[in-house]
Amino acid sequence: MTARLSVQVLVVGGGFAGAATAFFLSRKGIGGVALLEQEPFFGLHASGRNAALCRQLVEDDEVTALTVSGAEVLHSPLPDLSPRPLVSKSGSILLASTEEALAEIQARARTFSLSHELLSTRRVFSYWPLLQDMSCAGAVRFPDDGVIDIHALLHGYLAAARERGVMTFLGCKVERAEPTEQGFLVESNLGTFSARCLVIAAGAWAGSVGMAAGAQNPGLVAYRRHLFLMTQPAGDSRPDLPYAWHLDASFYIRPESAGYLLSPCDETPAEPGDDAVASNAADLVASRVVPLAPRLADLRVARSWACLRTFSPSKRPIIGWDEEVPGLFWVAGLGGHGATASATIGRLAAERIASQLP
Ligand SMILES: Cc1cc2nc3c(=O)[nH]c(=O)nc-3n(C[C@H](O)[C@H](O)[C@H](O)COP(=O)(O)OP(=O)(O)OC[C@H]3O[C@@H](n4cnc5c(N)ncnc54)[C@H](O)[C@@H]3O)c2cc1C
Repeated sequence: MTARLSVQVLVVGGGFAGAATAFFLSRKGIGGVALLEQEPFFGLHASGRNAALCRQLVEDDEVTALTVSGAEVLHSPLPDLSPRPLVSKSGSILLASTEEALAEIQARARTFSLSHELLSTRRVFSYWPLLQDMSCAGAVRFPDDGVIDIHALLHGYLAAARERGVMTFLGCKVERAEPTEQGFLVESNLGTFSARCLVIAAGAWAGSVGMAAGAQNPGLVAYRRHLFLMTQPAGDSRPDLPYAWHLDASFYIRPESAGYLLSPCDETPAEPGDDAVASNAADLVASRVVPLAPRLADLRVARSWACLRTFSPSKRPIIGWDEEVPGLFWVAGLGGHGATASATIGRLAAERIASQLP
């Protein structure tokens, strides 16, 4: 494509932020929507490389409102998104070090009307013998949490959006965007676009893409986190186990294939795109997780990868118009729960864009 393409809404980024926004824009009947993804495939960054945990009760109440309603869509997807649930109901157990912390988790679970039950340490270890000897006061089990089919979710948004006329371009990197009287003139490696509304849904790059369009970075910072695929010599896998997340010790583990997926919940500030595995990555497990849960020393790292979680200063997603640059809309800073919350984030973004299209 070298000629200029005129559209009404141009979405930059084909991760959960951009794909869900395009999906809900198309559901609202907004025509003339294009989505640009710089990579040759969708899901090469956070949206395709995350831990796939559906966790409803998260750190912050505002974000929890997004994850709870996002999880409802994962359990009962809109018919054009998926004919079947997009999350397993294997559940989660959130562990804490003190009884006060457990009481707070339960109080917040009640506020959000989430099914839950308190587990003694004995019951925690009956689910997870591998975690025996770990220090905790117990856990709260959430039976409606589980593991998301992230491939089906991302491609469900994109396929339905395309079906309703959204144009998607792969290998199309936005390089500059100049505000004009009518909106924006956007230069990409594949050609020029003109758009009335520019949606910045570029994950770790969102701050720099927004700046290339004349806005200020609203304080978005990316943090690298590692994930480890672990195998155990005995190969005793239980795929239906609820995932376990120790909130104070900060690590999580869930069944994956014949082994486990584990993260030490590390967070190192990183430049966009810098998702190389750190040279000392395996030490993160040995030095941070194994001392807490000694039986994990029996597991072997089969594969590791890293990816970036991007946060706003409030740690809440930014879903709204830029205050300075007319026509520029942010769907950014999805943080660590963007897969779970994506349907709500996309719906809110589409409502706000549609109500004020310039
Ligand atoms: C290790 C890890 C574990 C996680 N675990 C979970 C979990 O268990 N559960 C959960 O709900 N969430 C989880 N998350 C969070 C979730 O993955 C993210 O919140 C979400 O994927 C962010 O989506 P996004 O669309 O904002 O970003 P991205 O997925 O990064 O998508 C942005 C896209 O924009 C494209 N782009 C950037 N610049 C340009 C440009 N100039 N032109 C065109 N395209 C561009 C990029 O190539 C990219 O594909 C995890 C994240 C990480 C890193």
